[in-house]
Amino acid sequence: MAEVEVAEREEFRQQARAWLKENFPVELTGVDGLIYQGNANTAAEDPTYQLWRERVATIGWGVPTWPRRFGGADLDQEQARIIGEEMLRIRAFNPIRSYGTMMLGPTLLEYGTEAQKLQHLPAIADHTKRWCQGFSEPGAGSDLAALETKCVDMGDHWLVSGQKIWTSGADQADWCFCLVRTDSRAKQGGISFLLIDMKSQGIEARPIVLISGSTHFCEVFFNDVKVPKENMVGAVNQGWTVAKRLLQFERDNLSVVRNEATSLAPLAHEKVGTDPDGRIADPDLRQRLIRNAMRSVAYAAMVQRLTVETKAGVGLATRVSSLKNLWSGIAQERTELHVELLGADGLGWGGDEYAQADRNATRAWLHSRAFSIYGGTYEVQNNIAAKRSLGLPDA
Ligand SMILES: Cc1cc2nc3c(=O)[nH]c(=O)nc-3n(C[C@H](O)[C@H](O)[C@H](O)COP(=O)(O)OP(=O)(O)OC[C@H]3O[C@@H](n4cnc5c(N)ncnc54)[C@H](O)[C@@H]3O)c2cc1C
Repeated sequence: MAEVEVAEREEFRQQARAWLKENFPVELTGVDGLIYQGNANTAAEDPTYQLWRERVATIGWGVPTWPRRFGGADLDQEQARIIGEEMLRIRAFNPIRSYGTMMLGPTLLEYGTEAQKLQHLPAIADHTKRWCQGFSEPGAGSDLAALETKCVDMGDHWLVSGQKIWTSGADQADWCFCLVRTDSRAKQGGISFLLIDMKSQGIEARPIVLISGSTHFCEVFFNDVKVPKENMVGAVNQGWTVAKRLLQFERDNLSVVRNEATSLAPLAHEKVGTDPDGRIADPDLRQRLIRNAMRSVAYAAMVQRLTVETKAGVGLATRVSSLKNLWSGIAQERTELHVELLGADGLGWGGDEYAQADRNATRAWLHSRAFSIYGGTYEVQNNIAAKRSLGLPDA
């Protein structure tokens, strides 16, 4: 990087740091931003969170790289990375991060019409409209192209009927980006990508309770739902191309380094004690903690290298699957270590006899099982990496 560029980056870092110092409400320090993302209306109504959301929306830093006219800040990837790092440094979080910013927004920027972008992107950029993802069906998970939700052309509108499942946040969402079947004769070639207003008549979202205790999942039923013609993204029967791009954005985001990277060492010292050399007393546990922390740091460095390579024109797309698997493995291992450190305190799932923080850790561990399932399972990502990165033939 040229000297001038380094100096500019440093200047931007100082500006970001000063802005965060002035605007991030300290009461939200260390709060897991994920709780505001979709399923927790009560949390979203928290006035401190709303203040933080409004401030970030005003400066456009929820989606820093998006054009200003769509609610972004017109910044480059490097500046966006610096904002992320500075938030992480003070244990802040992006209050705008959502399915809209991670998945639909970038997809609309590439495939949406100008009218679709103007209608939806600003409300994603200030997090006033929430989105859910209507892809999976009871008979279509890894084999997503087997989906059957029917979409019929009624001349002046589409008519949608069928069932989706595992739709996160569907009961709280304002809109759904949905894959539907417009032609039953072609598998991938008969799929279209539709934007559906969740308040439309004929939609029912039934929550499903998870092992982690949260209910962010739903089954969604579409009973002859009328959808305006202009809500299709891309051409009829071309939805698979749009969906594949969206899934790349999803996996890319799922492999982003987040607050999980904070150290477990202080907790380990507290729980298992310190040896005469000042190290965590249990050597086996110490090694595993160090290995996890090193994998985490190495992963972050690799992501940084790939970001630079992408800027230089080397495609990231083929590596997203491997990244998703790597990060979900590291994050799962970390939640396991956390619960192991808690010992008997890590057995609590509910009830007052266990501290809230310990129960959260246990639930986070249970929830982490999902990391290698959502956004495409571990095995399926390996298949993709084998084919696209290594050039191996189909299994
Ligand atoms: C927390 C969570 C949130 C989710 N949110 C959403 C959402 O908002 N919207 C949405 O549409 N979906 C969502 N999903 C669904 C998710 O995308 C699917 O669960 C996932 O794609 C796997 O599909 P499936 O559950 O039908 O499993 P299956 O496809 O039935 O897979 C079962 C097992 O078989 C293996 N397998 C399948 N095919 C192959 C193959 N070809 N080669 C090797 N192994 C294979 C899988 O790896 C897996 O271990 C969510 C899932 C979770 C866990």
